[in-house]
Amino acid sequence: MKLTFPHMGTLDMVLSDLFSRLETDFIIPPKTSVKTVNLGTKHAPEFACFPLKVTIGNLIEGLEAGADAVVMVGGIGPCRFGFYAEVQNKILRDAGYDFEMIVLEPPTTDIKDFMKKCKKIAPKKTLWQIFQAVRVGWKKAVAIDEVEKKVLKTRCFEKNFGDTTAMHKKALAVLGKAITPREIQMARDKALSVIDGAKKDFENNPLKIGIVGEFYVLLEPCINFDIERYLGQKGIYLERSVYLTDWISFSKKNPVMGLSNDEVAKAAKPYLSHFVGGEGQATVGHVVKFAEEGFDGVIQLLPFTCMPEIIAKSVLPKIHRELDIPVLTLVIDEQTGRAGIITRLEAFIDLLWSKRKKKLSIVG
Ligand code: SF4
Repeated sequence: MKLTFPHMGTLDMVLSDLFSRLETDFIIPPKTSVKTVNLGTKHAPEFACFPLKVTIGNLIEGLEAGADAVVMVGGIGPCRFGFYAEVQNKILRDAGYDFEMIVLEPPTTDIKDFMKKCKKIAPKKTLWQIFQAVRVGWKKAVAIDEVEKKVLKTRCFEKNFGDTTAMHKKALAVLGKAITPREIQMARDKALSVIDGAKKDFENNPLKIGIVGEFYVLLEPCINFDIERYLGQKGIYLERSVYLTDWISFSKKNPVMGLSNDEVAKAAKPYLSHFVGGEGQATVGHVVKFAEEGFDGVIQLLPFTCMPEIIAKSVLPKIHRELDIPVLTLVIDEQTGRAGIITRLEAFIDLLWSKRKKKLSIVG
């Protein structure tokens, strides 16, 4: 059995590490590209949310490369993600692909089924060995996210254009080689100091922007036009509302972002008092938090037809009025072009600078 899976940011690095520990055969699909998006949009229903289309493209490319099994996670709603695996399975079979679909539902729904699927993925390992592999792999995944968070926060200070991106690649290569928990700890420290290696100028007082929105478009730079790199290289200080390990964490403690799900839900409560699926409530809570922390603005990334983010978007004008924080919503789908996104980002940055100057002149 040769497994494949969809891309989502650094997920390929995390899963490659885990499957290698489990001695599971796997194929990483080619990096998401225009071809991937075209394949997905050709086979998926027109009004499906955009991540479904892209992930179908990834899976087709993985199966074409020789995989004969797909691993996906399930979900319990209320957004459409819980049906992804079912819909992907049907679409890929209709398209003529023969493969095995392994869907890992949250262990809290059926622990026996979860363990059975784990054994299927790693037949050479005992459940205890699988647990240990996940435990150690998780440490590496958190370290990868910590490095990414540092890159986001410091790129705006780089003296030489592109240095931080180059250091990020080096830092990931350092982490990639680490196997044991001790090696991972040492590689984490080294990777963070590699990021420090890019020369910085801390004299400037950059605009501060928070990035919120649906997890897939937040985490996958090939789909969000790598706007974090674009903004960072424009000298904007960035923080993001969710990292990969925050999203897959069962603890609800969000190891990298730092804010627990409960804290974010509490912040969102005056505007959206219940869970609406995906990151909808988290988006609202994080906008409130970014406003409280004095950020200049927030960018919301919304895949076309994403129900939770549409709900979040509907309350953002109220937050803007009450907490005086501008929010730019970028809707992304297969029709979205980079030039349109960049034009809107530039206009938003101009607006934030003029707002900041106005504030300073009033204080002065
Ligand atoms: S969060 Fe939105 S885009 Fe993501 S799966 Fe759910 S409905 Fe689709």
